[in-house]
Amino acid sequence: MENLKLNSYYDVIIVGSGPAGLGAAFKVAENSNKSVLLIEKKKISSGGLRNDCKQNYTYPVGFPLEHWEEEEAKILLEEVKEHLKPKMEKRLDIEKYVKRAKKLNVDILAIDQAHVGTDKSGELIKGLIKQLKDMNVTVALETEVKELVANKKEMILANDEIIAFDNIILGPGRADYDWMQEQMDKLGVTYKDNVVDIGIRVEMKEENYSIVKDYYDPKILFPNKVRTFCTNSGCAHIVREKYKGYYSVNGHSLSKEKKANNLVNFAMLKTIRLTEPVVSGQQFGKILGEMVMQLSGGSVIKQRVGDFRLGQRSKKETFDDDLYDFKATLSNAVAADLSLSMPAKILRDIWSALKKLDSIVPGVLHPSTILYYPEIKTYSNKPQFLNKNFMVKEGYYIIGDGAGTSRGITAAWASGIRAANDILQEK
Ligand SMILES: Cc1cc2nc3c(=O)[nH]c(=O)nc-3n(C[C@H](O)[C@H](O)[C@H](O)COP(=O)(O)OP(=O)(O)OC[C@H]3O[C@@H](n4cnc5c(N)ncnc54)[C@H](O)[C@@H]3O)c2cc1C
Repeated sequence: MENLKLNSYYDVIIVGSGPAGLGAAFKVAENSNKSVLLIEKKKISSGGLRNDCKQNYTYPVGFPLEHWEEEEAKILLEEVKEHLKPKMEKRLDIEKYVKRAKKLNVDILAIDQAHVGTDKSGELIKGLIKQLKDMNVTVALETEVKELVANKKEMILANDEIIAFDNIILGPGRADYDWMQEQMDKLGVTYKDNVVDIGIRVEMKEENYSIVKDYYDPKILFPNKVRTFCTNSGCAHIVREKYKGYYSVNGHSLSKEKKANNLVNFAMLKTIRLTEPVVSGQQFGKILGEMVMQLSGGSVIKQRVGDFRLGQRSKKETFDDDLYDFKATLSNAVAADLSLSMPAKILRDIWSALKKLDSIVPGVLHPSTILYYPEIKTYSNKPQFLNKNFMVKEGYYIIGDGAGTSRGITAAWASGIRAANDILQEK
């Protein structure tokens, strides 16, 4: 924890220094004299702003439609740009892909994107924190909020310090969903979480997914709620992220200054909406993740397309044989059998989408292509909001991915602006 003496009261406290928290902090600091405390439990914000940092600037990518209209999202995206100063990627000749996709009932969205890279994002975040400090925002890094106090505008830090506030904005992200649930139970805020994205991460040689030369992160929508997500190329790697009880795979890439490894990875996800009796997306994701932990001896699994097509498991000894001509970037994924681990309905829809993709960009299903499982994106707890600016109780706001108000960096930032606007407009 930083050696920083905090006051016993702030006009506005913001929990979490991800894009949602930053968006709120900038908006309040730039437009009022309110005292602001931004609290972050890590040394640096831990979500996508820190990892890869691919920014999408086209509605509806990242904006859940139940909360956002195009017109407002567009205005707020301009505000996000003023702070993140994106250098947009070029989008070249995608017409040929769009034409082929249409024949298969598949949509390719044209998106404005910028990419920072995991090696450069730290600098971007440090720059933003410095700007906030220069505007007199108190930034407490490595400082964890233990809990909120019920029926009193106070919160307790991990070191038991109590701090009071007039307004609090919670932007803890997706990973801390159970903490968020406890706080909502305490505040008497009702919530639901019945949606989850389950899928695989696909890794291949760049020559087998050449579309990335024309379109950095192609957003492709397939039938049955399957879509591509978070494509990485250049110097691209797959990572294993720890969640409570399981691992999920994810992908990232370094900035263009780093030497290319000529590999590409992207997620192919299916959105599942659950109904009775299982209604928790987080719980469903956890059950599937735990099953893979059991089957893989505590890791995630990988399978070559060649083995999958033959209906045989991939094996460690033969994983790099013959046509299998590149090494997996996530070496501690265990060679195994996807069809033994994944629910049939999800596997069927994802495989069907991959076959369509192989017709649009021939090469994706080369035998050497690797399928990693699971990639799980929980949608968090969707609180019952009292207004469109994400207020859940007078003086309390919940924003960002942790509240289901966003699904990406730019929309998370926009959700912070909205909550801040509500506070600025009050009285
Ligand atoms: C590895 C990875 C890569 C990603 N890449 C991209 C990408 O390239 N592009 C994109 O658009 N999206 C990406 N995403 C998704 C993106 O991270 C989220 O959409 C976005 O960060 C959500 O912003 P947020 O502010 O709601 O939450 P987060 O960014 O998760 O920030 C929440 C912050 O709150 C802190 N926190 C939580 N609880 C407490 C507490 N009790 N006390 C104090 N602090 C707390 C956390 O440490 C964290 O820093 C990625 C996600 C991951 C995990």
